[in-house]
Amino acid sequence: MKIITTISEMQDHSDRLRDQGDRIGFVPTMGFLHEGHLSLMRKAREENHALVVSIFVNPTQFGPGEDYASYPRDLEMDAPLCQEVGCDVLFTPGADEMYPQGNVTTVSVSGLTETLCGASRPGHFDGVTTVVSKLFNIVRPHRAYLGLKDYQQYRVILRMVQDLNMNINIIGLPTIREEDGLAMSSRNAYLYDDERSGALSLSRSLEAAREMVRAGIRDPRAIEEKVTGIIESEPTNRIDYVSIVNADDMAPLSTIEDRTLLALAVFVGDARLIDNTVLEINGN
Ligand code: AMP
Repeated sequence: MKIITTISEMQDHSDRLRDQGDRIGFVPTMGFLHEGHLSLMRKAREENHALVVSIFVNPTQFGPGEDYASYPRDLEMDAPLCQEVGCDVLFTPGADEMYPQGNVTTVSVSGLTETLCGASRPGHFDGVTTVVSKLFNIVRPHRAYLGLKDYQQYRVILRMVQDLNMNINIIGLPTIREEDGLAMSSRNAYLYDDERSGALSLSRSLEAAREMVRAGIRDPRAIEEKVTGIIESEPTNRIDYVSIVNADDMAPLSTIEDRTLLALAVFVGDARLIDNTVLEINGN
């Protein structure tokens, strides 16, 4: 496995791969890797000639007062994991390499960034879509693999790629969970024991919501109320949002339709965790 830290070397490497007809699969991450990330890498490994993984904690997607400085970083642990899943190139640029002269150009997706994390983290998605555009221009992948744990991010990037004709196949893969249901996240490392058990209420509340839909309930407010009650019953938790939106355009809904997204963001202690489920009326 090659570790590349400069943009020019990464671009040259991808050019050579493309020249020899290789298909490039790409998994962008912020590192501190866990099974969620590795599941994306394994799929990309299977489906492409070359696997490129990036690790870059992108400063521009963190707001003031958020956890950019304390976000967990451990390249010495991450690099061997990438090697084990058969990664060909690990791209780990520094912030100076990615933003040598600051940034006056922004890629911004409107509409579907106005709810959920877009509403509660102003500027977050501009940071995400701009850095992902840069990474796509640097790595020039044929396919990029994203986790549906960040469901809104997946939809936003999908739409960006369509609108800007990027000619990259975006593949969304299911959320990987701990055995007890907690969605894997690098931020789970922040949790103390009591918070770890408080955090279980997130996946429990999603299951309760699916159960309500199976029982025929179609009122989003009733479901949001139930979910809110389950999460707030844990003293470690403070809700950022609990929202039911259309799973494609992220617009708020007044009734549960087929392909409805229930998404939540909760501060468990200091850790802001997100989780979601798609509520399918048929077959849920
Ligand atoms: P991050 O390092 O948190 O920016 O995540 C990098 C990629 O891994 C994103 O596409 C995430 O959606 C995905 N990811 C993070 N956690 C999980 C998980 N538990 N299951 C599946 N994918 C995940």
